[in-house]
Amino acid sequence: MKKEVIIIGNGIAGVTLAVLLQRKEIPFVLLHRKGEKPAFALGETLPPSAMPLLNELKLLSVFEQNSYRKIYGYHSMWGSERVMDTNFFHHNPYKNGLKINKFQTLEALRSEIKDNMISYDKGFEIINEAHGNTVVLSKNEGVKIVQGKILVNATGRNRAVLQKLSIQSKTYDELVALSCHIPKIKHPKLTHEVYVESFKEGWGIISAISETENICTIYTHKGHEILPKLKDVSQWKSILSETMYLKDFLHETNQVKFKGGNANSSVASQVAGSNWLTLGDAAMSFDPLSSHGITNAIFTAKVASKAIEKKLSEADTTAFPEYDKTLKTIFQQYVQSKNKLYQQEVRWKQESFWQRFFV
Ligand SMILES: Cc1cc2nc3c(=O)[nH]c(=O)nc-3n(C[C@H](O)[C@H](O)[C@H](O)COP(=O)(O)OP(=O)(O)OC[C@H]3O[C@@H](n4cnc5c(N)ncnc54)[C@H](O)[C@@H]3O)c2cc1C
Repeated sequence: MKKEVIIIGNGIAGVTLAVLLQRKEIPFVLLHRKGEKPAFALGETLPPSAMPLLNELKLLSVFEQNSYRKIYGYHSMWGSERVMDTNFFHHNPYKNGLKINKFQTLEALRSEIKDNMISYDKGFEIINEAHGNTVVLSKNEGVKIVQGKILVNATGRNRAVLQKLSIQSKTYDELVALSCHIPKIKHPKLTHEVYVESFKEGWGIISAISETENICTIYTHKGHEILPKLKDVSQWKSILSETMYLKDFLHETNQVKFKGGNANSSVASQVAGSNWLTLGDAAMSFDPLSSHGITNAIFTAKVASKAIEKKLSEADTTAFPEYDKTLKTIFQQYVQSKNKLYQQEVRWKQESFWQRFFV
C-alpha cells in the first residue's frame, strides 16, 4: 500500500490529524493496534480557551455532543486555605469548557476516517529513508507493507515511533497520577463540580462526569513514600484526612475502577525530521494541572496538517523545521508557567513533593 502520509497512533492527536488530512484530500493511512481496550476514562477538562480552536477546525459540535457535560468554572484551594472560585462567565467568546468523554469523542471521529484505518496485532518496524518511509506491520495472517512519504508519530507518551527512530526525550519531573471512579457526592460548600486541592504530598482533583459518578485523581512524585499507600484506594480517605474538602469525596472502599500512570512533563529532543513528525503527547506532554494536553493534541494536529500540506504541495523544505521550532517555543513557555503555578503553593516548601519547584 502506498499513501502520502502514514499516521501511527489512535488517540485524539492522530485521529484529529487524520480528519484534517481527509478534508484536505491528502491520502493517508492510520495504523493502530488491534483490539485496543477503551482507555480508562480520565474525565479530562477542556478549558474555554480551547473552544475557538475547535470551532475553527469545525470540530466543536462533535466534541460538545460527545462530552460528559459543559463546565462553567471550578474551585481550587492552592497556596492558602481559601477556596478560590474561578468562573468562566467572564471568558470570551465562550463562557464554558467541556468535560471530555474521550472514548465517545474518538469513536465519533474514527467513524469519519474508518476506511483509512488499518490494524496490526504483532507490532511494526520502520525503515526511514531520505526518499520515504516503509512500515512493516506484523499481523497474525502475515506481514503488510505500507509506504508513505511522511510518517507521523501520534503514539502518546509511549513515543513508539520516536523510540524506533532513536530520538531521545527530555523529562522535566516525575509526576505520577492515580485515578479512580467513585460514586458522586455533591459537596454542600462547592457549587462547581470540579475541585482542585493541594496537600503536603501532592495535589488532587475531583470532578463529576455524570449524575452518579465522580473521578478523583491524586498526583505525587515517583518514589514518594505516600505512593505505595495510595495504591490501596480504600486508604485514600485516611491518607488524605488532613485535606480540607478532598477527603469528603472519598470512600473507604476498594470496589472502584482504579488506574495509575505517568503524568510528567517531557518533550522530544526533535519533533520533526526531513520526512517525519510527531504530535500530541508524543511531541510534548504536559502536567494535567495545566489542562492543556487535549488542546495540545488538537493544536499540534492542526499545525502538522498545514506543514504536511505545504511540504507535499509546494515541496517547502522549511515547513517541518518551522513546526519543530514552534512546538519547542510553546514547550519552553509552558515549563515557565507551570513552575510559577507550583511556586504559588508555599505552605509546604520544605516537603519533598514541593521543594523541587523552589530549587
Ligand atoms: C491523569 C491525567 C489527567 C489528565 N487530565 C487532562 C485534562 O484535564 N485536560 C487535558 O487537556 N488533558 C489532560 N490529560 C492529558 C491528555 O489525556 C493527553 O494529553 C491526551 O489524551 C494526549 O492525546 P494523544 O493523542 O497525544 O495521546 P494518547 O491519548 O496517549 O493516544 C496515543 C494513542 O497511541 C496508541 N499507541 C501507543 N503506543 C502504540 C504503539 N506502540 N503502536 C500503536 N499505537 C500505539 C495508544 O493506544 C493511543 O491510542 C490528562 C492526562 C492524565 C494522565
